[in-house]
Amino acid sequence: MVVNEPDLAVPWTRTIETKWALEKLHDVPGTIVLREYPGAAAKHYPVPDSAGRNKALQAAYEAKLAACTRNPLVAAGRLATYSYINMDQAVRQGLDTAHRIARTA
Ligand SMILES: Cc1cc2nc3c(=O)[nH]c(=O)nc-3n(C[C@H](O)[C@H](O)[C@H](O)COP(=O)(O)OP(=O)(O)OC[C@H]3O[C@@H](n4cnc5c(N)ncnc54)[C@H](O)[C@@H]3O)c2cc1C
Repeated sequence: MVVNEPDLAVPWTRTIETKWALEKLHDVPGTIVLREYPGAAAKHYPVPDSAGRNKALQAAYEAKLAACTRNPLVAAGRLATYSYINMDQAVRQGLDTAHRIARTA
């Protein structure tokens, strides 16, 4: 389903054909092949620099936000925690967060 192509001669990072995730390939009448190109203007990946500056910035933003609200601030997900996580981990964090909030409500 995913072919990683970390090669300077190849302008994309990886090729994805989602239909290979399905059990019954013969039920799929068509397909879409995607290529991911690095360098988009929007930054999607957290950058953990060795000095920890970016993580510290995230913690500072979180503290600032927490000071602005009377309600508890709950950070979950890639953006809010500035962490490199996949979808399953993002969903897990969302569910755990909802359980935590429900328990304290
Ligand atoms: C190119 C790429 C490929 C990926 N491939 C995979 C993969 O193959 N498998 C996998 O498991 N995971 C993959 N991921 C990771 C997966 O997409 C993330 O883990 C997941 O989307 C994180 O979900 P999230 O809800 O934490 O954050 P996001 O999905 O980033 O959601 C954050 C939301 O907040 C919104 N937002 C931003 N700023 C503000 C603001 N100021 N006010 C209000 N809203 C705001 C954004 O618009 C966005 O909708 C990939 C990610 C990228 C970028």
